[in-house]
Amino acid sequence: MRLGIHVSIAGGMAKMAETAVSLGCESVQIFSRSPRGGKAKDLSLPDVEKMKSIMAEHDIWPLVVHIPYFVNLASSSPDTRSYSIDVLVEDLQRTETLGGRYLVTHIGHKRKDEPPESPDALAGVYSSIEEALKRYTGPVKILLENTVGMGQEIGFSFEALGALVKSFPEERLGACLDTAHAFGAGYDWTAPEGVRKILTDFDDRVGLSRLGAMHLNDSKGTLGARMDRHAHIGQGNLGEDVFRAILHCPLLPPDLPGLLETPIDDHGDDLCNMKKIRALRG
Ligand SMILES: [Zn+2]
Ligand SMILES: [Zn+2]
Repeated sequence: MRLGIHVSIAGGMAKMAETAVSLGCESVQIFSRSPRGGKAKDLSLPDVEKMKSIMAEHDIWPLVVHIPYFVNLASSSPDTRSYSIDVLVEDLQRTETLGGRYLVTHIGHKRKDEPPESPDALAGVYSSIEEALKRYTGPVKILLENTVGMGQEIGFSFEALGALVKSFPEERLGACLDTAHAFGAGYDWTAPEGVRKILTDFDDRVGLSRLGAMHLNDSKGTLGARMDRHAHIGQGNLGEDVFRAILHCPLLPPDLPGLLETPIDDHGDDLCNMKKIRALRG
């Protein structure tokens, strides 16, 4: 697995790449804009070129971009839906400019009175993605991330994730598997043979050939609690053995990006988590 972590772009793209180098990243994830909202700032092309050369020099690939959290491809509100599609198209273009291979997106959520993973809800998401892929025809691939299933979130079950992923061509759309989200949705990595069983189930319903990246996060939430709270590697309810088993699982391709989205409680936490995950790989 190509290990990396989510790095801030607060100081620009070249600074982000320097941070990724200092953390020993082999791959890296970023937001291309503020994840909370507002119009995206234009990318500075000299800054992007500098970032690309630092990443090439240190063999850091692929670059994975995560879409902002406010995107809701499942919204029943025409305005929210069309804005979400616009942001998806824009972030696909920004990812291409940045030289990224994947854009990770959450699928979205329904209102309280609407069932989240009904055929209707999935059909709505399908048509949002279909529209975005008509407007963006470049090389960047969308990865749909599994969710914890908090509230009316879509994509917590491998069945729903797989139904969407398999509706699109392999070269345009794949999946991203988040360990903490799966655990919160009820997939028990800590059970005997848990890692092999979950990945086999994922292969049956989504397809490991469609897996573009994994998010390696420990979880503060308990099994099936539908609570999205990440923990430092080895310090949550998954524990070191789960990550060791994932890192050594022969079902996963050797070049798969394994990206950390662990909390930053104290200065130096990112480096500690990167050191820990590398040590578990051995
Ligand atoms: Zn995510
Ligand atoms: Zn994630």
